[in-house]
Amino acid sequence: MVPTDGTSTRRVDVAIVGGGLVGASLACALMPLIERAGLSVAVIEAAPILETVDAPFQPSFDARASAIAQGSADHFAEMGLWQSMAEHATPIRRIHISERGRFGVTRLSSDELGVAALGHVIPNAWMGRVLHRRLAESSIAWHCPARVEEIAPVAGGHVLTLSDGGRLEAGLTVLADGGRSGLKERLGIESDSHPYDQVALIANVELSRPHNGEAWERFTVEGPIALLPLRGQAMELVWTHPLGAEQRRLALSDGDFLAELQRAFGDRAGRFRRVSSRHAYPLSLVTARETTRPGLAVMGNAAHALHPVAGQGFNLAVRGVMDLVSAMESGRERGETPGSAEVLADFEARRRADRHNVVRFSDGLVRLFGIDSALLSHARAAGLVGLNLAGPLRRGLARRAMGLER
Ligand SMILES: Cc1cc2nc3c(=O)[nH]c(=O)nc-3n(C[C@H](O)[C@H](O)[C@H](O)COP(=O)(O)OP(=O)(O)OC[C@H]3O[C@@H](n4cnc5c(N)ncnc54)[C@H](O)[C@@H]3O)c2cc1C
Repeated sequence: MVPTDGTSTRRVDVAIVGGGLVGASLACALMPLIERAGLSVAVIEAAPILETVDAPFQPSFDARASAIAQGSADHFAEMGLWQSMAEHATPIRRIHISERGRFGVTRLSSDELGVAALGHVIPNAWMGRVLHRRLAESSIAWHCPARVEEIAPVAGGHVLTLSDGGRLEAGLTVLADGGRSGLKERLGIESDSHPYDQVALIANVELSRPHNGEAWERFTVEGPIALLPLRGQAMELVWTHPLGAEQRRLALSDGDFLAELQRAFGDRAGRFRRVSSRHAYPLSLVTARETTRPGLAVMGNAAHALHPVAGQGFNLAVRGVMDLVSAMESGRERGETPGSAEVLADFEARRRADRHNVVRFSDGLVRLFGIDSALLSHARAAGLVGLNLAGPLRRGLARRAMGLER
């Protein structure tokens, strides 16, 4: 990694705005092109992330974790990162989906699908650590902590003005800022935004018995409750609440919180014994109307912020990362630059259907299970039972959820 003095203007082939999960994954996926083709890449990250990469990692009881589909694990393996990621990954062997107070239940298992795991749960902090450690060993120019404050289109790309006084001119700029910087809006890229009026309450919980690699998705009147297996008897809780209702539960004592969770979830997974600190994330579906322009690609949450009910946001973004790299590699063989209209049109063509399907799937799930009508409940129950019976359909859905099919 090349530290920068923050005063000069540099020309780079690719500038990645945001070194979060998606920006850092893209930078790592570009490594072969950097090494083989001498591609110059800069990452600009506002938060002082690298300070902790060499500190001993303690997977704490309150860390946030994500469900990583097998397809994403395969992509990290292609980047040479899976072995490190797997050090703190917990495999998902079974998924149990049910609706509180209704009959329907569906189960998916890795044995039935002939795969080692349906997915893996990894603390976000560990994924970040692995990605940033890889970047620290590379020749990538790392501007951190620095914010991109201005972006201006110029012939052949964009000029970025950084908060440390530096300027970059990039042939391709990738906005991977999580949609947080306002840069997309300043470029006139509009988004469709549908607040769900829901908030995800996140915590780690400890159970009275081993989870045996089982993940749970339980739809309740208030909203879905997901439990993902972590190390030992700990599980990541993602409990969706109507907007505002989470406040009371954030303020409860641990004991009262656990009692309410037990009542809402039931005792299928065992007794909830311990809970970490709790965090709240307001939920919206935000999709950018444009994800490419000559010299520009919008990726990750900046392109699509989804409801976490189906655990698809980052997995979708990882497929986007791999498609962008493939489009750049194909373009290079044709003599095209990374930011050329042809490369970005190719990238967009590769992405369109997958993005559309995943957005529709996640949003459909929220809406289907968010409506409390008796008729719909029976339909949902029938769907869950039917899904359990209809092996090929269920296996097809599962393969898609695992990121093994599009
Ligand atoms: C509760 C919850 C649970 C989830 N669970 C899952 C799951 O199980 N599986 C899954 O696949 N997905 C899951 N997701 C989705 C996943 O978290 C997101 O897809 C992912 O975090 C998006 O990463 P990102 O890098 O695009 O954005 P971010 O994580 O927001 O990163 C953006 C980065 O850009 C930086 N930045 C912002 N502005 C600037 C600027 N001007 N200049 C420089 N840097 C800047 C920020 O500091 C940050 O580091 C979940 C989401 C939520 C809310």
